[in-house]
Amino acid sequence: MQYTEIMVRYGELSTKGKNRREFIGRLNGNVTKALHGFDQLRIHPKQDRMHIVLNGDDGKAVMGRLHEVFGIENYSPTVKVAKNMDAVHDMTTKIMADIAGDEPKTFKIETRRSDHHFELDTNQMNLDLGDWVLDHFPNLTVKMKHPDITLRVEVRRDGIYLMNQKIKGAGGLPVGTAGKGMLMLSGGIDSPVAGYLAMKRGIDIEMVHFFSPPYTSDNALNKAKELTAKLAPYVGKITFIQVPFTEIQEQVKHDVPEGYLMTVQRRFMLQLTDKIRVMRHGLAIINGEAVGQVASQTLESMVAINDVTTTPIIRPVVTMDKTEIIQHAKDIDTYDLSIMPFEDCCTIFAPPAPKTHPRLDRARYYEDRMDDVDGLIQRSLDGIKISEIKSTDHFLNTDQDVIAELL
Ligand code: ATP
Ligand code: MG
Repeated sequence: MQYTEIMVRYGELSTKGKNRREFIGRLNGNVTKALHGFDQLRIHPKQDRMHIVLNGDDGKAVMGRLHEVFGIENYSPTVKVAKNMDAVHDMTTKIMADIAGDEPKTFKIETRRSDHHFELDTNQMNLDLGDWVLDHFPNLTVKMKHPDITLRVEVRRDGIYLMNQKIKGAGGLPVGTAGKGMLMLSGGIDSPVAGYLAMKRGIDIEMVHFFSPPYTSDNALNKAKELTAKLAPYVGKITFIQVPFTEIQEQVKHDVPEGYLMTVQRRFMLQLTDKIRVMRHGLAIINGEAVGQVASQTLESMVAINDVTTTPIIRPVVTMDKTEIIQHAKDIDTYDLSIMPFEDCCTIFAPPAPKTHPRLDRARYYEDRMDDVDGLIQRSLDGIKISEIKSTDHFLNTDQDVIAELL
């Protein structure tokens, strides 16, 4: 079937005028970015729908890209015909021939009309086309509730539009409508999922990744970058900020009693992320913590770590079971990367027995007791590197055979 346009229905859309304009404006920008490279098509963002007129571009390929744009509830590949019944009949036959098959099936016609001057009103159109289909397809019968096939017909000023599919979109809100946040991205399973869910609610994310050469390998850093590339299709490209963490980890290991190593390390990570957030004009911090999953994620640990900032910390997977998070990771195709065995800085400096119930006063005390905390933080900030990562960038060999060999 040669579609002429893709009709896009908006997701959860506040009814207020200004928000609506912002939503549609952002979505338009994001769709434009997602469809970069298609030279013929034209995007028309209207109040209630968006029309992507293909002008010969490949509808299937376009829909593949649209599938990853947040803020789209669903979309329909559509054929436009001239405003006369011969043309409508013709196209109806073509579309039905494509999908009717030979088995008995049910159908209905659903007409909307914005041009009230057209010769048939919605009822007449439904009846006319219903009869037409019954006459030409003996295996089809009419059913109003839950039919197998729904042929939608829209009579508009500039033409008549026919469509028979409603494909579910990514949902959520257009990325950027909620402002910007810093995602603390490890190489693990949870934080990429947290990033995906944050983007789905309209947050534009930048990655903050801590690495500790020579204790962590290039592969660990590249894995975080590769994960970033996996999340990039939802936004076009993502800023990746790598933060050197070696000196801080060595110093903490030297100065802090073993039970508090992890708590104090995490306090440094969060302080640094918050400083980077200010530099990058972010509004929030996002991480992949889940209550009770590991020692650093008990509520006491969260109290002792969160203490360094009043910035909102968003934890999209906070109440999920690991199995639920893994399912999400598989759905967004980050799982296979996340389980590649390249240790990140937290694993390598993890004490054998971290305190599961650290005390806030002790955590503060051990941190205060360290020499030159400001200098440590400043030197780490001086060493950050910022890059842009696109979905087409690659940093690791992700060949399944290679992965299998490493595991
Ligand atoms: P993940 O699967 O996201 O690594 P996890 O269950 O392994 O999570 P931790 O390793 O304790 O949990 O990390 C908790 C959170 O701290 C992570 O989800 C991530 O947001 C942040 N984090 C951990 N390590 C790093 C790192 N090297 N760089 C940036 N953020 C990190
Ligand atoms: Mg981890």
